[in-house]
Amino acid sequence: MLLDVRDLRVEYLTDRGSACAVDGVSFSLKQGEVLGLAGESGCGKSTIAHALIRILRPPALITGGQIIFQDRDVLEMQYQELEDFRWRSISLVFQSALNALNPVMTIGEQIIDAIQAHQPIALATARERAAGLLTLVGIEQRHLKSYPHQLSGGMRQRAVIAIALALTPPLVILDEPTTALDVVVQKEIMQQIEGLKQQLELSILFITHDLSLLVEFATRIAVMYAGELVEMAPARELLGLPLHPYTQGLMNSFPAISGERKKLTGIPGSPPDLLNLPHGCRFHPRCPLAKPLCSQTAPTLHLVGKDHQVACHLY
Ligand code: SF4
Repeated sequence: MLLDVRDLRVEYLTDRGSACAVDGVSFSLKQGEVLGLAGESGCGKSTIAHALIRILRPPALITGGQIIFQDRDVLEMQYQELEDFRWRSISLVFQSALNALNPVMTIGEQIIDAIQAHQPIALATARERAAGLLTLVGIEQRHLKSYPHQLSGGMRQRAVIAIALALTPPLVILDEPTTALDVVVQKEIMQQIEGLKQQLELSILFITHDLSLLVEFATRIAVMYAGELVEMAPARELLGLPLHPYTQGLMNSFPAISGERKKLTGIPGSPPDLLNLPHGCRFHPRCPLAKPLCSQTAPTLHLVGKDHQVACHLY
């Protein structure tokens, strides 16, 4: 197993109390696998990504669980071990390429900076590798001298991916890598990521609010709601027969490319306030299938098929 996350818990300490953004989340990732992590904004997906490479800052605090990467306990690592671990073992493509790039450094300088921060190699070697990385993500090498504002949105995203691949880590976390891009560029970026995955034999944790992006890409999909995992299954199974009413709602929020035309229903209401969570199932105020038990007892994630887990009283 490449990554094993066990019962992870992350809290944000606020003046109004402690908000549990990730509450007892467990999942694993095998070599070469793509795990899609889906859910609405604010459900805890990015908090998990930041916890995995320990870049959470106060008021966020990891208050429980284990993160095991290649038999090493990430939460036990000390400063130097963490420095060596980040980017070499797991790298992260942050949300919004424009914000992730430094506007006053050229693309080349930023890639070289990432390489040299984690590997003591000569400037000329780092420059050569930076040029190779740009080619790998489909950007002409002359753009090593370009500043972020001189590139299109799609090119900036590719440059951020190049930085994430600087040390060829076995696992890359992509946090909403195509948000804010138009659909044509989005498709190109997805194809690029798929190509890189094959070429470099990468494992990927792909975070998105858009389940449709995972259709052809993910091996397995985990769905989060209000800090908890509510369903996890092989991608084809989950997309073909979603069991949890929240997953069904997410599926009804995007149009099918083929088949019958259906009216999109979406999910009524908004996610709950993490400081004031509903009793019982956290989804019950929005769930069209809620029954009296749902507001009294919280369902737990359990197996309902060979690899299919769901947290819902209906199963
Ligand atoms: Fe809906 Fe009840 Fe299932 Fe929660 S446990 S998703 S409220 S049916």
